[in-house]
Parts: sequence; structure tokens; C-alpha cells
Amino acid sequence: LDAFLDAEDVLKVEGRLSRSSFPNSFKHPTVIPPGHHVTNLIIAHYHETVKHQGKGFTINEIRSDGYWICGLSRAVATHIRHCVTCRRVRRPVESQRMSDLPVERAEPTRPFTYCGMECFGPFWTKQGRKQEKRYGLLLTCFCSRAIHIEMLEDLSTDTFINGLICFIALRGAELDMNRLNVFLTEKQCDFVMNAPHASHAGGVWERQIRTVRSVLNATLLLSPDHCATMAIVNSRPLTADALDGHNRLEPLTPNHLITMKSTPALPPPGKFEREDLYGRKRWRQVQYLTEQFGSRWKREYLHSITTRQCWHSTKRNLQVGDIVM
Ligand SMILES: [Zn+2]
Repeated sequence: LDAFLDAEDVLKVEGRLSRSSFPNSFKHPTVIPPGHHVTNLIIAHYHETVKHQGKGFTINEIRSDGYWICGLSRAVATHIRHCVTCRRVRRPVESQRMSDLPVERAEPTRPFTYCGMECFGPFWTKQGRKQEKRYGLLLTCFCSRAIHIEMLEDLSTDTFINGLICFIALRGAELDMNRLNVFLTEKQCDFVMNAPHASHAGGVWERQIRTVRSVLNATLLLSPDHCATMAIVNSRPLTADALDGHNRLEPLTPNHLITMKSTPALPPPGKFEREDLYGRKRWRQVQYLTEQFGSRWKREYLHSITTRQCWHSTKRNLQVGDIVM
């Protein structure tokens, strides 16, 4: 640094710019001790002066005004890390490692035993010559990822209950709010609410709504067509792995799993082989196919959802004393 004391007994840096025409304060900056309270005040002042524009801007401003702080870079970084304004403007949203799958999604169950549901819309439909708003109630099965759509005329509780009655009549009453709560208890349903504004926690149905929207936007007439939409979405392959190749099997779709509803999901005792398909005993054919569906569900689908596609690393949870905004 070649430090020296000037005429006023202030410690300055000699540097290599003595022949330049810059002002003296720039050529020979004043040495400031690191970690001192005054040093922190200087950093805070210049950080404010450059309107919280990050480390580089702040350092440049301090240097050009004739201060030489040892370990300046680290000191400024520390200051910015604790700066409330910078945190508010630039800090990314907190996230956490994606959790393990809940038991409802990892165990083979009959279709629509555990469901997620959400209303979506509105869509404009034609009734005669006038246009009317319609909403959709989407129920999706956690296990087979099959969907069921009911049309709602509005977003009231009564309409919702009507839709739910239709769903239960068709799919059975094994579904996983005050007037609504009584109704659901009678129908043997457990109702678990999702956290508000936490749509990432409902990826199962949010993703399905995206698929349904794209189909509906193509066909776009909800009232007669929601069954067709349901059929299209339920006939999508569950994985993309088995789609190419000559000897590929027919892709496994939610429709396969829905139509298997009358059979138990766990394989029954007994050994069923490919030859059973051509035998005369119909029940053996059915059991063989049941086993095939079950094992393919495990092999093709369950494996594909075990990988975490985002939020890979474990992070420290927020604690009392942390700054949050
Ligand atoms: Zn700041």
C-alpha cells in the first residue's frame, strides 16, 4: 500500500497514481480500519447514495470518494446481506426441498379413493342463442391420475354439492366445510383443505386443469362436452417412456385403471401367467390382466414420480429472528 502520513497526520495510501491529474483525495485515499463503527457508517452512507445498487456500485462510490477500507469487498457484502431494502427488492422467495410423496399417492388404491378437487373457469357456453358462464369442478385421483369433471352453473355451495352428488353417484363414495361438512360426513367423505395461496402444494390438480383447459379450448363447449374432455384427458398415457419402439405395449392410461374399479388393487393369491389369457377360464384372464396393470402402474408410473423435478436441496427452515417480508 505504501502508506504515509500527510501534513494533517492522516494515514494515506501512496499508490501509483501520483503523476496523474486526478484530485489528491482520489490519488491518495485515506486508510480506514476495517470493522470499526465509523467504517460501517461510511459503507451504509455510500450504499444509500447509490440507491442500493449492489456491491460493485457501492465499492466504486467509496473508492472514488477517497476512502481505502481494508477488506472492503467482504465488508460491503456483509452490509448488503443485512440491508432490509436490498433483501426486500432482490432476495428470492424461500423454498424447501420437495417432500416425500404422501401415502395416498404412493399406495395402490382403487381409483378416486383419494382425490384432489378444484373449481376452474369460467368458460363461455352457448345455450340456444345466448352465451352463459359455466364453471368446471375437477376431481383428480391421486393414485391413477384419472380425472372427473362436473359442470357447475356458478360457484355457490349448492351448485358444488350438486356436482359432488353426481360425482359420488358415478364413482363411489370413497372420497378423501359447515353445511357442506354435514353433507360430506353423511356421504363418508373426509375433506382436507389446502393452504390458501399455496397452489404449488396442489400440483396434482393444477396440472390436470392445465390439460383440461387445453382440451376445452380446442373443443370449447362445456355442457355436452365435459364427458368427452374427461375421456380425452383420461386416455392420455401416464408416462412418456413406453411411447416409441416397435415392441411397445399399449401405453398405460388412467382409463385402464378406472375401468378396473371392481377388482381389488392388491394382487390376489395365485400365479397367473400369459397362457391364462388364452385359457377358457375368464376369471384367470381377468386376474392376469389385473396383475399386469398393477405391476405396470408400479414400474412405469410410480418410478417416474419418485424423482424430484425441482427443489432438490434441503435448506434451513425459517426461524424466529429471521427477516421475512
Ligand atoms: Zn441495500
